[in-house]
Parts: sequence; structure tokens; C-alpha cells
Amino acid sequence: MLKVGFIRCQQTEDLCPGTMDLIIAREGKGVFEECGPVEVVGFVSCGGCPGKRVIARAKMLVERGADAIAFASCIAKGTPIGFPCPHWNQMREAVIKKLDSRVRLFDWSH
Ligand code: SF4
Repeated sequence: MLKVGFIRCQQTEDLCPGTMDLIIAREGKGVFEECGPVEVVGFVSCGGCPGKRVIARAKMLVERGADAIAFASCIAKGTPIGFPCPHWNQMREAVIKKLDSRVRLFDWSH
């Protein structure tokens, strides 16, 4: 079973506890339809704007066993209020540069 570490938008923590992300992980739905149910090894925020702390947090998740990092939909899609992260592309590129290329990335969750 694929082990996944979630990273979410810190700004949306007041609006969403990530319930749907945990459901789709358990049930292998959303972005995980292609791989089936996944094991969640951690669920952390980006660390706040402008997202510089995301690299350390992604590394921490990998150290805790994540084979993949899933960016929750609050970041790229702006779920649930339609307000995507203005730093998304920069954060994504930074994580790609710093993580082992074997770590899989999911750009959204559901
Ligand atoms: S950097 Fe983006 S993902 Fe992180 S808190 Fe700010 S808006 Fe949210």
C-alpha cells in the first residue's frame, strides 16, 4: 500500500479539517483512484505563507515513511472557498527540486 504524507494550506485550517482527504485516502478515491487505498503517514500544513516551510515539511513526511506527497486540494484548487494558493507553483517547484525524485507527488486530492 502506498504511504502518503499530506500537505495542506494553513490558511484554510479554520474552514476544513481535511475530512474528505482522509476519506478518499482510506477508500482509494479522488486522486488515489489509480492506486487504491493509501496509508496516511502524516497530515501537516504548509507552515503558512509564503510557503517556504513546505520543503522541510515534505522532507519530514518522507523521513516518516511517505512514498508520496499529496498536496490537498485547498492549495492548488482553492477548495472549499475557491481561493487557490498564490504561491502554489513556487512551492511545488521547490519541493520537486529538494525531494528524491522517487517520491511521487499528487498535485490535488479530490
Ligand atoms: S502559502 Fe499557500 S498553501 Fe500555504 S498558507 Fe499561504 S495560501 Fe495557504
